This record gives sequence, C-alpha cells and structure tokens, in this order.
Amino acid sequence: FADLALYSAKNAGRNNFKFFSQALQDQTNHYIELQAGLKKATQNHEFEVYYQPKICLQTQSLVGMEALIRWNHPVKGVLTPIEFISFAEQTGLILPIGAWILQAACRQAEIWSQALNRSLEVAINLSTQQFKDEKLIKVIQQALQESGVHKARVELEITETSLFDNIEQAIQTMHAIRELGITLAIDDFGTGFSSLSYLKRFPISTLKIDRSFVKDLAVDEDDKAIVESIIAMSEKLKLKVVAEGIETQAQLDLLKERNCHYGQGYLFAKPLRAEEFERLYIQS
Ligand code: C2E
Ligand code: MG
Ligand code: MG
Ligand code: MG
Repeated sequence: FADLALYSAKNAGRNNFKFFSQALQDQTNHYIELQAGLKKATQNHEFEVYYQPKICLQTQSLVGMEALIRWNHPVKGVLTPIEFISFAEQTGLILPIGAWILQAACRQAEIWSQALNRSLEVAINLSTQQFKDEKLIKVIQQALQESGVHKARVELEITETSLFDNIEQAIQTMHAIRELGITLAIDDFGTGFSSLSYLKRFPISTLKIDRSFVKDLAVDEDDKAIVESIIAMSEKLKLKVVAEGIETQAQLDLLKERNCHYGQGYLFAKPLRAEEFERLYIQS
C-alpha cells in the first residue's frame, strides 16, 4: 500500500500528493479494520443471509430465492459481499462462513416450502475456494442432512472462473455434487470464458445470464443479441435460464417474449431480510 501511494502520487503530480495519500490511507485503514473484524464477525454472528426472489417470468410467480450474504458490521452498518468476500477468501474464513450459509439457506428453504405447501428452490453461491476445498462434498452433505431440506430444492451457483484452471477436476467435483441429489448453475454466465464446447460436458441445470448483458438489453442491439443467443442455446441444451438484474419493464417484456424462464432483479425485489421476505412472499 505504501508503494501504491507513491505510485498514485507520482502520476497525479505533487499538488495532489496529500489528497491521494490521505485517501489511500483512509482506504487502507478501512481494509485493515474490516480484515481484523472478520474473524470476530464469525464468532459474534454478525453475518446474515438475505434472500432475493426468483420469479417465473411467464406467470410472475415465485419459484425460489437466491441466498446472498450480508455482514452487519457493528460500526460500519450493513456490508455487501463486494466489501468483504475477497478478505474472507484470502483468510480462508470463506470456508466456515460458506458452510454456515449453506446450512442456514437450506433450512430456510425447507421452512418456507412447508409453509407454502409447495417447493421453493434455493440458490446458494459457492466461491472458488469453496469449490476447490477437498471437504466440499462433506460440508454440503452435512448441510443437507442437518437442515433436513428436500434435496431437489437446492441449487449451487458457481462462476466460470471457478471451473477453468483445472477443468477435469472441476467436472469431477460437479459430478460429485450432482450425486448428492442437488443441482448446479453457472452464475454470471457470459463474463468468464469463450469456449462453449465445455458447456455440454458440465453436469449443470441452469445458466444465469450476467446482469451486464441485461442492463442495456432494451437499448443495445448487441446485448440483445447476446441475451437472445444465451436463451436459445439454453433451450437447445435443455438448461433452465435465469436473467439477473432485471430492473425495468422493457427488459422484462423482452425476456418474456424470448421465453427466458426465470428472472431476478430490483423490478421484482431487492435481496430482503428473511423477515421481510416472509412477510411479502410467504405469509400473504
Ligand atoms: P451474484 O451471485 O451474481 O448475485 C447477484 C448480485 O446482483 C447480488 O449482489 C444482488 O444483490 C445484485 N442484484 C440483484 N438484482 C439486481 C438488480 O436488479 N440490479 C442491480 N444493480 N443488482 C442486482 P450482492 O448481494 O451484492 O452479491 C454480489 C456477489 O457476491 C454475488 O453475485 C456473489 O458472487 C457474491 N456472493 C453473495 N453472497 C454470497 C455468498 O453467500 N457466498 C459467496 N461465496 N459469494 C456470495
Ligand atoms: Mg449468484
Ligand atoms: Mg450473478
Ligand atoms: Mg457474481
């Protein structure tokens, strides 16, 4: 960080040195505080799982939810993953945190499914480190068992980047996960790699179209073409397809018209605390 400060100062010129070094110092302190707090956070139960509804686009009905972690920081308030997940990965704390989320989200899916008297699917994000952890299968198995969730309700989301430095190993892990009776989705699809030839070798059930393509879907012909292609390909490969980050009616209309199965996004709801999700989707 010291080097970084010098580097920025050099580029910015002398007059800006103070400004940049102060900003960097603040940023560095912020990071150090977060990193130090992370371990305590696991002990003090400062993490919370939020849930974002996943909607069937044709019927507009709820089909499930994605579990998204939040950190209720005692001083800084509610933090989103972008602010701390990389620290959790660097320190290895992502493993116990991830195991906890699995268990909590599975439990929640079971409770809500029973309350509604129909199956809700829960999607849970796996980090690269979790995906590569030799204890992964055991950890998932334990979460399934202890939560008592009906296995068909559980889907794990992995990103393309988790899969590509050792493809054969990754495919084996994916098969081992599938053998547990749960399904797999590729998250942020379209942002990671270009070789589609692997897609047919992956034992996955779902593609999630990255939000960056959905964003300008209604105004950018290229994004529209990409999204249409992903949907058409999913159809052919018999995969379910979920659009992420739907914010406008125009986006929704286009996705519906192209027969995109499911969607998530602020147009429907932001990620919600469990209590809020329950009030809006389970009790009403
Ligand atoms: P993701 O899995 O692709 O999750 C979707 C992200 O998009 C979430 O951000 C969600 O809040 C946000 N989002 C949903 N709808 C909209 C929308 O309409 N507009 C916009 N602008 N954003 C929308 P979030 O919760 O901040 O999570 C960010 C990423 O952090 C996730 O991306 C996922 O990669 C990771 N993450 C979240 N929870 C977990 C977790 O429990 N474990 C692990 N390993 N990673 C997690
Ligand atoms: Mg996800
Ligand atoms: Mg995503
Ligand atoms: Mg992501």
